[in-house]
Amino acid sequence: MSAAIINGKEIAKEIRAEIKTRVRALAAQGIVPGLAVVLVGEDPASLSYVTGKEKACVEAGIASYGRHLPASTSQEELLALVKAYNDDDRVHGILVQLPLPGHIDENAVIAAISPDKDVDGFTPINIGRMFLEEPCYLPCTPAGILEMIKRSGIPTKGANVVVVGRSNIVGKPLMNLLVRKSINATVTVCHTGTKDLASYCMNADILIACAGKAGLIRGDMVKPGACVIDVGVNRVEDAAAAKGYRLIGDVDFEAASRVAGWITPVPGGVGPMTITMLLANTVEAASRSAV
Ligand code: NAP
Repeated sequence: MSAAIINGKEIAKEIRAEIKTRVRALAAQGIVPGLAVVLVGEDPASLSYVTGKEKACVEAGIASYGRHLPASTSQEELLALVKAYNDDDRVHGILVQLPLPGHIDENAVIAAISPDKDVDGFTPINIGRMFLEEPCYLPCTPAGILEMIKRSGIPTKGANVVVVGRSNIVGKPLMNLLVRKSINATVTVCHTGTKDLASYCMNADILIACAGKAGLIRGDMVKPGACVIDVGVNRVEDAAAAKGYRLIGDVDFEAASRVAGWITPVPGGVGPMTITMLLANTVEAASRSAV
């Protein structure tokens, strides 16, 4: 068997065209959606994510009000900036790129973002709303994964879904969303305390790897015909690559794609969907400000 590739770039392109239509409709009402992306420090991966988000904003017609602050920025300075964005009517969405330098309390900074502008869906209030299935901004990576599954026509009702990873930004929200009645999957969450990871994975109709460990999911851990979603982004040295490294996921793509029914590549799978959901949430926030 050779798996069908779920092309995140193509699906994201489709959704971004829909977003542009919404941006044009808002422009007719005199509203330009605005997103403030805040980066603290020089982490190269974070810098590359932020650059990608800002570029996507420009392409979608969303105004970008981002700030790049030095690693020495104090918690008070960062909280003051978040407050300024909360009070700025041009800014509909605020995203503080994680991780923050060690001297800053991430939870305090995230909690300071107005829930109405929390387009990353990370504030305790939005997480509570998600749990209660109230209207809220869903965290972008889990929302992007669900959209990808839906648009690829992969059945979820009654499916056994195994999520490998339990972070607050990917694994836990995924677990929460997948058990909603509208999706109706049976969900198992694995982590470093899981005994015999392979035995769970082999039973998965949908296997979602979000551990950040290259090669964690081998081909023989995939159930024939399963859908494999690879969230992991891992840098591996590659002297032949221009940057000296390349990005791979958590799944052994070559081996798994011989067994799976569907599979996402890395790069070009989940990544473009994450950014697209951020744009969608920002446009939604701008639309809400119009009423
Ligand atoms: P994280 O906070 O480091 O969490 C990783 C999770 O994986 C933890 O729950 C950990 O278990 C589990 N894990 C690690 N090694 C494992 C193993 N050997 N067996 C079973 N479980 C294991 O990571 P994250 O922020 O969720 O990100 C995960 C990966 O997704 C990273 O590669 C990240 O770069 C990528 N990512 C991609 C996107 C995208 O848009 N493409 C977005 C977000 C994240 P414990 O809880 O027991 O430690």
